[in-house]
Amino acid sequence: MIAELIAVGTELLLGDVANTDAQMVSRGLSALGITVHRHTVVGDNPQRLTDALETARRRADIIITTGGLGPTYDDLTKQTICKAFGRELELHQDILEEIQTWFQTKMGKKMPENNVQQAMLPVGCTVFTNPVGTAPGCAFEEGGVHVLMLPGPPFECQYMFENRAVPYLEELTDGVIVSHEIRIFGMGESSVEEALHEPMTTLTNPTLAPYAKTNECMVRATARAESREKAEELLQPLVAQVQEILGDVVYGVDVESLEEVVSALLLERGLTLSAAESCTGGLIAKRMTDLPGASRVFRGGVVSYTNGVKAGVLGVPETLLEEYGAVSEPVARAMAEGCRRICGSDLAVSVTGVAGPDTDERGNEVGTVYIALASGEGTVCQRLSCGKGRGRDRVRTAAAHHAFDLIRRTLLGKFPA
Ligand code: ATP
Ligand code: MG
Repeated sequence: MIAELIAVGTELLLGDVANTDAQMVSRGLSALGITVHRHTVVGDNPQRLTDALETARRRADIIITTGGLGPTYDDLTKQTICKAFGRELELHQDILEEIQTWFQTKMGKKMPENNVQQAMLPVGCTVFTNPVGTAPGCAFEEGGVHVLMLPGPPFECQYMFENRAVPYLEELTDGVIVSHEIRIFGMGESSVEEALHEPMTTLTNPTLAPYAKTNECMVRATARAESREKAEELLQPLVAQVQEILGDVVYGVDVESLEEVVSALLLERGLTLSAAESCTGGLIAKRMTDLPGASRVFRGGVVSYTNGVKAGVLGVPETLLEEYGAVSEPVARAMAEGCRRICGSDLAVSVTGVAGPDTDERGNEVGTVYIALASGEGTVCQRLSCGKGRGRDRVRTAAAHHAFDLIRRTLLGKFPA
């Protein structure tokens, strides 16, 4: 099945709003094993929307539109689609009543007359009721092409996609589609593709596809089968094979993030962590505390941005700072050890590096980062080159990623490699 997305909205063309609906829908479609061939954005203009629809229907099995389902004069998606596909609109009394109730209970007022338009839906369509807003979506099939309409506001669009469009699309594809995400850190996308070239290019069910993410990459294994069990039977050997080929750069399957894996490992072992952060400026602590239940494994941290705080709070000896500079292995080690002492944690990670834009006073290049991890068994340290030339934020996020990976590898007994 081939899908195309058409986002409707002049604000998208003006650059006021990013087309995040397309990203969300595309991600969801690829998880269903539906291939997306094109994203189109058109303004609130019936002629250009008609053109986009005419072209898309010749190429795709599924067209998904977002936006333009509201009650205002510029919301023209439904009317334009119906014209293009030769369908009439008809009033759905039950939907109208739902919208009236929504206004009464959520807004505490009578439904404006304009909103009647939202209860007008194509004859014979599948209605996507919208409990999180007023605009219902809908879907119909015409000449072998399925057209699905979703509202524009991202929260509504996501709800409607997940709870209305996905079940509709699952009906179209025989059986179920199951996928697993294999998360990888420490190997670039092209090396991953090279290592997995054979299964990626030859397999048809299950399939294996690579995705690049910030600082890491992901491989998705997808299978289609008559039942979930059958799909898993196809997937499990493939997932195991990928893990076997790639080795310990695979940090998890169907997990959200490296920090989630680190947190689970700490919890499993009854260990606590703290962080002494220089160039990451608290990012490690932020990412740890983004996780629910973080207090069971994360004790706290110190943003020791200046030498004064490194020495005064963490107890890094002045002599080390003078002799080696703040961005150095001895200082990284002393930061981690000091942090472990003052926070009373089992493990303490430290990060010190050059976020840029300029090299430091000792000539360390932008992106030079030392990461140390102190534990009861001693301290390990790594020197890295993180995201050079890509701005402070990239250096910081890459350094935090490496810090989490160092913790993960140490906990698994895989560092030093
Ligand atoms: P409403 O009932 O709110 O009018 P609608 O379905 O008519 O919903 P639009 O009027 O097109 O949707 O867009 C409403 C808001 O949703 C826009 O102001 C914009 O902020 C956001 N939005 C629309 N389309 C997208 C998109 N593709 N990606 C991200 N945000 C979007
Ligand atoms: Mg609107």
